[in-house]
Amino acid sequence: MADAYPSTPVDVGSIATKHRTICSAIPHPDSVEVVETLRRAEPLCMEGQPPIVWERAEGTSIYDGYGNRWIDFTSGVLITNAGHAPGAVVDAVVTAARAPLLTSYCFPHRLRAELTTMLQRCAPRDDDKVMLLSTGSEAIELALKLCREHHRTEHPGRRAVFVTFDNAFHGRTLGSQQAGGIPGLKQWIGYRDDHFAQVPYPDPVRGAPKYLRFDAFVGHLRDQGVAPEDVCGVMTETYQGGDSCFAPVDYMQSLRRWCDEYGIVLVMDEVQAGFGRTGRFWGFEHYGIEADLIVCGKGISGSLPLSAVIGRRALMDQFPPGSMTSTHSGNPLCCAAAIESLKIILDDELTERAARVGRIMQDAAHHIAERFSDCIAARQGRGMVASLLCVSSASGEPDPKLAWEVVGRAVQTGVMLFAPVGYGGSSVKISPPLTIDEEALREGMEVVEEAFAHVLAQRKGTMTSA
Ligand code: PMP
Repeated sequence: MADAYPSTPVDVGSIATKHRTICSAIPHPDSVEVVETLRRAEPLCMEGQPPIVWERAEGTSIYDGYGNRWIDFTSGVLITNAGHAPGAVVDAVVTAARAPLLTSYCFPHRLRAELTTMLQRCAPRDDDKVMLLSTGSEAIELALKLCREHHRTEHPGRRAVFVTFDNAFHGRTLGSQQAGGIPGLKQWIGYRDDHFAQVPYPDPVRGAPKYLRFDAFVGHLRDQGVAPEDVCGVMTETYQGGDSCFAPVDYMQSLRRWCDEYGIVLVMDEVQAGFGRTGRFWGFEHYGIEADLIVCGKGISGSLPLSAVIGRRALMDQFPPGSMTSTHSGNPLCCAAAIESLKIILDDELTERAARVGRIMQDAAHHIAERFSDCIAARQGRGMVASLLCVSSASGEPDPKLAWEVVGRAVQTGVMLFAPVGYGGSSVKISPPLTIDEEALREGMEVVEEAFAHVLAQRKGTMTSA
């Protein structure tokens, strides 16, 4: 649903629990001016989220400036794996700021050395290298560049095709969007670049059963006239973000073997899945494979803008000194945040926690999907990410309006969700920080269930009275 949520305050009555406070109409009437100011200043595309003015976010709570408090089911957008603003992160950022060292471009600094070493220890191979950047899209662009350069030297003169999957999302810059597999998001590009090829994702819900088998991958490339020697890299999100959809394990293992057979770089986009989110430190561990290049962002710092490409030394070392840089690469404040956030994830065993507590969340999501089975076509996800795909009970087609209304109702009643994503914009996505208290998690899931019940009852009422 491409509509903005209205900024008109809605009164749902007051709510006061240990984890939620709703003490005014939502959004608070006095906050609407901020929303409207932004709507006047920013392009339309920025109006997508529920109009709650975030004043403070701590742990797994989000606050406006008027006493309202939400259970966070967003983690920003799967950023705050270790919770919002842990004390150690805030202190480290303040210390770096007060040094003061706000930037150093690519000149060495101690925090960058510390962080890259920590990330090397998390990498599949001991001698992997780490390049820090700022956004997920920027890191995707770098992975693409590394694949192409590798192919250029290995197969001089051959076309270098970067293979990705239908429905994939990898970012909004030119290269990352060309690698994406959502046609509607690419229309602006205006031409088709035959150096990018998409194949059907092995999606058990949306895809044809034949696409679940790896021979469909090979067949589709053949049909598009792409020989393995033309392929410079294959990239996939570890799970497709919109609908939290994982590929079959045997498919991914076949893909790994196929890449090995032809010397093709396998890139795993871990921007969402990394840093424990799915109950494994790297999401691709679910498949029992290793990536040649890992693209990460979001949860890497849990807060400030930072991303990275981590991978095989030979691929990472292709460009000579000074020729592969970025102005804000490894900004000291971002590194300080990432070091402390990573320490929390590792020391507090948040990955294991995501697996354990995530089961509560997945069970609750499953229960919601069963209860409203005529309008929830699928519940997918693992660990601390789940998606509920809303469909019309009449046609079985995606129902973005239902998802949009459910999100709106949940937000009005104290659970922060971001606007629906995924297939037809119809998935309600749940992604709390990995630190969430079990009681708060259960309460939040009940709110989501109530939101479905409320919206569907209202619909029924409207239909009956019509
Ligand atoms: N890859 C994936 C899987 C993502 O989910 C996103 C962001 N949602 C990106 C890449 C792009 O990251 P960014 O918005 O930081 O550029």
